[in-house]
Amino acid sequence: MIDVVQSLPRHPEKNYVIRRLRSIDTIVVHHAAADHNPWQIARHHVSEHDWPGIGYDAVITSDALVWKTTLDREIGYHVRGHNTRSLGICIAMDLEEVYPPHNVYLAALRTVIRYADAYSIGLYQIKGHREMSYNNTICPGALNMERFRKAISTVRGR
Ligand SMILES: [Zn+2]
Repeated sequence: MIDVVQSLPRHPEKNYVIRRLRSIDTIVVHHAAADHNPWQIARHHVSEHDWPGIGYDAVITSDALVWKTTLDREIGYHVRGHNTRSLGICIAMDLEEVYPPHNVYLAALRTVIRYADAYSIGLYQIKGHREMSYNNTICPGALNMERFRKAISTVRGR
């Protein structure tokens, strides 16, 4: 995981609210509208949405690299009504109609497992954005969350 927290565009005045790490109990998986790098996403979130910084905690790019984009204790903006308790992991590709390439899928799997292990997050607290209440979205597109969770339990061997 490449840590770019300090090098991404941030809002000149706003900061994300800080939480206790122990309040983290959910991982939410997203996709992006297009192939973007963390700088493009951060610039968009800050300039267009007027957010304190990039909304996601980690971003996986189409080259299967994994970028750490906020501090875990910062409450980013990625899932309405659930930000306080969740980490947002974004596959920065358009998955509306296509499945992610195998290497990107594996990178996403590994990243989610790493966060889930770090915060003792159970399999069924690993969600696709559209599985969250109050969120009317198709995100993360073609990514099948049942299969994704099944792959995680297979990798973990339990
Ligand atoms: Zn989403």
